[in-house]
Amino acid sequence: MSTSTASQNAFVDFKEVKSRIGILQVLERYGLLSNLKRAADRLSGPCPLHKGTNPTQFRVSVSRNCFNCFGTCGRGGNVIDFVSLREGISFRDAALLLQDWFMPDKAANRFAGTAPRQTTEASPRPSSQPLQPPPAVADDPDEDTGENPPLSFALKALKSDHPYLSARGLTEATIASYGIGYCAKGCLRGHVAIPIRNRDGVLTGYIGRWPGDPPQGQGKYKLPKGFRKSREVFNIDRAVHADSSDPLLVVEGVFDCLHLVQLGFSATVAILGSSLSPRQEILIREAARTKRPVYLLFDADEAGRKGASEAAMLLCSSSIVRIIDIGAYQPQPELLERSQVEALLTQHGATTP
Ligand SMILES: [Zn+2]
Repeated sequence: MSTSTASQNAFVDFKEVKSRIGILQVLERYGLLSNLKRAADRLSGPCPLHKGTNPTQFRVSVSRNCFNCFGTCGRGGNVIDFVSLREGISFRDAALLLQDWFMPDKAANRFAGTAPRQTTEASPRPSSQPLQPPPAVADDPDEDTGENPPLSFALKALKSDHPYLSARGLTEATIASYGIGYCAKGCLRGHVAIPIRNRDGVLTGYIGRWPGDPPQGQGKYKLPKGFRKSREVFNIDRAVHADSSDPLLVVEGVFDCLHLVQLGFSATVAILGSSLSPRQEILIREAARTKRPVYLLFDADEAGRKGASEAAMLLCSSSIVRIIDIGAYQPQPELLERSQVEALLTQHGATTP
């Protein structure tokens, strides 16, 4: 008995569906746009997939044409994913449905020789006109999910032979490779400057570290004006190119990260603090997309343990995540020996590089 239907036979170009149909069109079709607040490229509101009430958990990026839920369902993806989840249908059927709604040229091919599909009353009404995005708002209050622009300057003549760098265990090769050095003039004068690059390797800022104990009333760290470290994951541009079978190690600080890289764990990144921001969550999810497990090696203190458990909750919907308590060996990853890292990873089921 033949069960062939138009749906089974129809060819669907997923890439074309994703590129031609905007997330705003889809949200409008479901009547969801009025529930979302827009700021520049971002929309946020309660999650329509798990029917959440938290007004900021569901985030949409218009330019990237994707959505993410930072609440209990933790779902995210493109326009086809959204329709698939919302309708409870397969990815392929969702793509076909989107073609029916928004790509009449494709829908006509699909139904050639078959009766046109009846739209039920329960289905959302198609909009008569394509949705025009509202004008961009200059001020983006959603600090953690935005991106730092490329830095308009680069610090020149950083001194790579400052004794603080070797005292922190950095090798000459690491210092040269990452472009780290002591800054004698400019906005980070008196600090050791560590360049921060985005996932594409573009310089977006620096972390300035006072070499040693800072003068009374001054912090250990200084950042260039306007640079938000919560928008970056240090070393992600390199970690994504590491062997995809290596686990992704996530630490708090730049020096922890550089130390583990020197030990041979090249897929190590730092979140520049103990709290994972929404933007950092997206970056780490993307880096772990190749089925790479994520190991959190935070400091063995209260802030580190709290930060690790919160980060694990956020990341676990899309990745295998393990919290590694390093406290049995050292208070900070920067002090771990290679054999200790290997032992910790092996205890948690990892194969070490
Ligand atoms: Zn949700």
